[in-house]
Amino acid sequence: MLMSRFAIIGGGPIGLEAALLARQLGHDVHVFEKGRVAENILDWGHVRLFSPFGMNSSEWGRGALGNDSLPGADELLTGRELVERYLIPLSQLPELAGRIHEQCRVLSISRRHFRKTEGIGSAAREAEPIQLLIEQTSTSRSVIHAPDPKDEPVADSGRRIRAYHEVEDRHIDERVELADVVLDCSGTYPHHNWLGDAGMPCIGERQLLSEGQYRLPMMTKAEFGNRTTLVIGSGFSAATAVVNLAALATRHSRTKVFWIARSQAEQGETAGPIARVPNDPLVERDQLATKANELAILGHVSRASLLEAAHHPVVWLADVAIKSLRSTQTFRDVNGFDVELDWSRSAEQGSNRPSRLSVDRIIANVGYRPDRSIYEELHVHECYATQGPIKLAAKLLGETSSDCLAQTTHGADVLKNPEPNFFILGSKSYGRNSNFLLRVGIEQVREVLESLGRRLSG
Ligand SMILES: Cc1cc2nc3c(=O)[nH]c(=O)nc-3n(C[C@H](O)[C@H](O)[C@H](O)COP(=O)(O)OP(=O)(O)OC[C@H]3O[C@@H](n4cnc5c(N)ncnc54)[C@H](O)[C@@H]3O)c2cc1C
Repeated sequence: MLMSRFAIIGGGPIGLEAALLARQLGHDVHVFEKGRVAENILDWGHVRLFSPFGMNSSEWGRGALGNDSLPGADELLTGRELVERYLIPLSQLPELAGRIHEQCRVLSISRRHFRKTEGIGSAAREAEPIQLLIEQTSTSRSVIHAPDPKDEPVADSGRRIRAYHEVEDRHIDERVELADVVLDCSGTYPHHNWLGDAGMPCIGERQLLSEGQYRLPMMTKAEFGNRTTLVIGSGFSAATAVVNLAALATRHSRTKVFWIARSQAEQGETAGPIARVPNDPLVERDQLATKANELAILGHVSRASLLEAAHHPVVWLADVAIKSLRSTQTFRDVNGFDVELDWSRSAEQGSNRPSRLSVDRIIANVGYRPDRSIYEELHVHECYATQGPIKLAAKLLGETSSDCLAQTTHGADVLKNPEPNFFILGSKSYGRNSNFLLRVGIEQVREVLESLGRRLSG
């Protein structure tokens, strides 16, 4: 096989797996990571993965590291453990030495000399390399002494103390790199969706919420204990937040949760908000769904009166939209929120539904979406519903099982774009579809590299 220059965007699990396999196949590989290796997983490092280590790692990665030091195939690791016990060792393999560039954000990608509207589908366009604009951030520390010795403080002994403070300087440099093949493995986290009705920001959301409120925080006593938190979302991240807050409430009894989550389409409100997978092989996932649904059903506002619900840590508000957020000053917090609700899409009538909530904290686990801005100069045909590449999206929309474990990959052809040699892999390839699993991304890497190998040597 001929050696190609590979640029990989993102040093997450899929970018690293791709880098290692491409190196093993003899390519000249460079990974550009905007933060640290596995930056996004470290952000939710306290959460335990549902899938066991054997499914979250590749055979070529395990082979290169040697099995002795690795977790067992059935071990369920936290995000941090996966990073420390597998992904960082992977990034430190000699094959990847000097090839992973942290603090390097890819800002834009284009085909050299060809604008988006030029040379569409032509051999001349394909013959040019892909260029990447990269922003590298570096920091240096310097020590600043007091400019005049007279300004230095005097110790009890009468001696002057050499006073100094440290200053951190940030330098930002931009450069362009060229590549024959680009794999965009930059994920979707933390480009969040909005919490308002039908995906639009609700009134006040853009001003009042910051990025951290769309993530999955650690439920510390200092931040959430004896406070009222509004959780929004119907997926496993929201379920994790609710179950962890309910656990905090057993130790700090004034901890309360309002949970806004859709009821399940066909089963209504009796089933709780989280869809369970029949005979779920991932036991931890099933336990989480069961626990979250139990908490929701007990505290469902149409069943319990708000007064009854006051004795239960979780109050579930099904099928309601948030109309607006306003900042309030609560007696404990400067930054509480007044939340205005809109029940107009709910089929059921109920007299005890609140029209407003007053909360101290908001966790909006409403999903993530791909950042498409980096490849907007390339030719990528996207699905109008999920914003993933169209051929894969069409296959995924045709899948009927609710179990993401039942998914298979669909071959390298569905990952091809009209722009030759540009591939979107990993969680970003699923666009807004949240069913992605590492197992699928690892298989994508193998399939794409195999097919490129055949083409490059053919
Ligand atoms: C809370 C949570 C729990 C999950 N649990 C599981 C589980 O149990 N099992 C499972 O299989 N999956 C799970 N997933 C889903 C999925 O496997 C993970 O999201 C996984 O991290 C996706 O890997 P990735 O490499 O595609 O993307 P990411 O891990 O998101 O990595 C992308 C990398 O690209 C970098 N990057 C982004 N933009 C740029 C840019 N412009 N330039 C340079 N670098 C950039 C980021 O900093 C990041 O390091 C979970 C997801 C979440 C959020």
